[in-house]
Amino acid sequence: MRAADLADDLTTVLVTEEQIRARLEEIAQQVAADYRGQNLLLVGVLKGAVMVMADFARALPMVVPMDWMAVSSYGTGTRSSGVVQIRKDLDTDIHDRHVLIVEDIIDSGLTLSWLLDNFASRGAASVEVFALLRKPDAAKVHVDCRYVGFDIPNEFVVGYGLDFAERYRNLRDVAVLSRHVYA
Ligand code: 5GP
Ligand code: MG
Repeated sequence: MRAADLADDLTTVLVTEEQIRARLEEIAQQVAADYRGQNLLLVGVLKGAVMVMADFARALPMVVPMDWMAVSSYGTGTRSSGVVQIRKDLDTDIHDRHVLIVEDIIDSGLTLSWLLDNFASRGAASVEVFALLRKPDAAKVHVDCRYVGFDIPNEFVVGYGLDFAERYRNLRDVAVLSRHVYA
């Protein structure tokens, strides 16, 4: 569905499907050049990264395997604490592998910074991050995000994999969720 199908639930469309597709092509070219001749593994973080992984992997002009992790973050209140539990682990041994984590959005960065440490402890040759979206707070923790699709304002967004209570993941665009939906 497109944002127009949901007009009452959304305030602003921040990134359209067309903009996402164009940006994924650019980043795919960059990643292909950066990893030329290397044994790259893409790791998607479920469930939010499903859409970006599917489109980004197909934009890459090279053979590349994909693996998935599911994690939950525990925190007090609305912020994640950085305490992370693995709900589904990788199927792949990443020792000596070049790993690129594919994420939907980086907000506080706590979840990603835990994942980076975890992957480093498994002996990965390198671990980098591609986040489709990045919010301003991400600057507060030092998560090195090598590839970023779009910097967006500090609003709660849905679409292109991002949900509110499991809804809106199948929206093609990224949009700000109207407050009346969760108020
Ligand atoms: P953090 O970077 O704070 O550890 O957490 C990032 C995770 O919080 C993302 O993977 C995503 O699941 C969720 N998240 C952060 N900001 C948003 C948002 O604006 N919309 C939605 N739907 N999820 C978000
Ligand atoms: Mg997520």
